[in-house]
Amino acid sequence: MVRLSLEELYKEVILDHYRAPRNKGRVDPHDVALERNNPLCGDELELFLRYDGDTLEAVGFEGKGCSISQASASMMTEKIQSLPIKDAITLAESIKRMMAGEEEGDPNELGDLVSLKGVVKYPVRIKCALLSWNTLLEALEESGKLERS
Ligand code: ZN
Repeated sequence: MVRLSLEELYKEVILDHYRAPRNKGRVDPHDVALERNNPLCGDELELFLRYDGDTLEAVGFEGKGCSISQASASMMTEKIQSLPIKDAITLAESIKRMMAGEEEGDPNELGDLVSLKGVVKYPVRIKCALLSWNTLLEALEESGKLERS
């Protein structure tokens, strides 16, 4: 009988998103496109957002790099698609706190994203996991959608 450990399960979720990325591709038309990379690992990401008022109407990405960076982008786009912008910002902040080891991460809130927690113990990979989230926050800021509290 095969029983997956939590760590193996996390790995499976990441590989699944890496092999079959969700929302891969440009979004046209888009309101903002932002390209960022993680030179430490060679990860590249371009994020496309289209707004409908205060909602993320369409989200997509192009990119290449390690499984963690690309899976994180895939999971992020899946999760924030159609979400109010303020909820996407709350989510990004939760992920950043989880990756900083400041909180456990709530599976009910985060879904598949909780699998990124397995990366916390590999400090060099944390930047890979956060590339998409930092790009999202920067893109929102660039289009005047990020309200600093
Ligand atoms: Zn990477």
